[in-house]
Amino acid sequence: MAITIAVDGPSGSGKSTVSKEVARRNGLAYLDTGAMYRAATWWVLDQGVDPDDEEAVIAAVKAMELTVPVDPDDQVILCAGRDITDAIRTPELSRVVSAVSSYFPVRDILIRMQRDIITAETKPDSYSSGRGIVAEGRDITTVVHPNAHVRVLLTASEEARLERRAKEFAGTVDAKTIEQTRGIVSERDRQDSAVTAFLTAADGVVTIDSSSMSIADVVDTIENLVRRVT
Ligand code: C5P
Repeated sequence: MAITIAVDGPSGSGKSTVSKEVARRNGLAYLDTGAMYRAATWWVLDQGVDPDDEEAVIAAVKAMELTVPVDPDDQVILCAGRDITDAIRTPELSRVVSAVSSYFPVRDILIRMQRDIITAETKPDSYSSGRGIVAEGRDITTVVHPNAHVRVLLTASEEARLERRAKEFAGTVDAKTIEQTRGIVSERDRQDSAVTAFLTAADGVVTIDSSSMSIADVVDTIENLVRRVT
């Protein structure tokens, strides 16, 4: 049986690291939907479109040519043939992504692409492995794939999330860096939570609080959930 695992959560909850590891260990495909919203934002900015101009943003995203990776160990993302893997992770882009992802027609376009990828990765006769997929984001358990076999909301205390993000961006967790990170991360979560409900678990979604858990512990917990359904 091809398995589908949906993982949602706020920034810094550890969902990318954990989802990749679950995919790797189980030979599954991995889909980072946040990277798709980031790519759309990069494209909008590259095209000189004003992110506040909803109609222009929608038109740009409709015309976007995106190649989305599904190998957890090869996350090179291409837009119109250009490698944008690093460009989508800058703080400048992170500040704009919530605005672009707040437009529902943009979400519709990306959600369709995400569902197509999930379908392709779970079909045994497809060119892909067909063994299944781990998809992560903000609305996978609720909107993109509410029928996933395993549905997880990965949370962590604000303190733990800020420390992880500060370490990632600046390599340090001193008070000043934490405060700078708070400005960026908390504002993004605030904007995102007006659009997608990723702070409370929907019915049937298992909440895992990773604040004081290691990555390996979270991965084990998800694998135990997988064992229950396979
Ligand atoms: O997960 P990541 O932090 O890379 O996501 C970047 C942004 O993409 C989020 O801040 C949010 O605005 C958007 N996003 C979304 N729905 C998803 C995944 C990400 O709106 N499923």
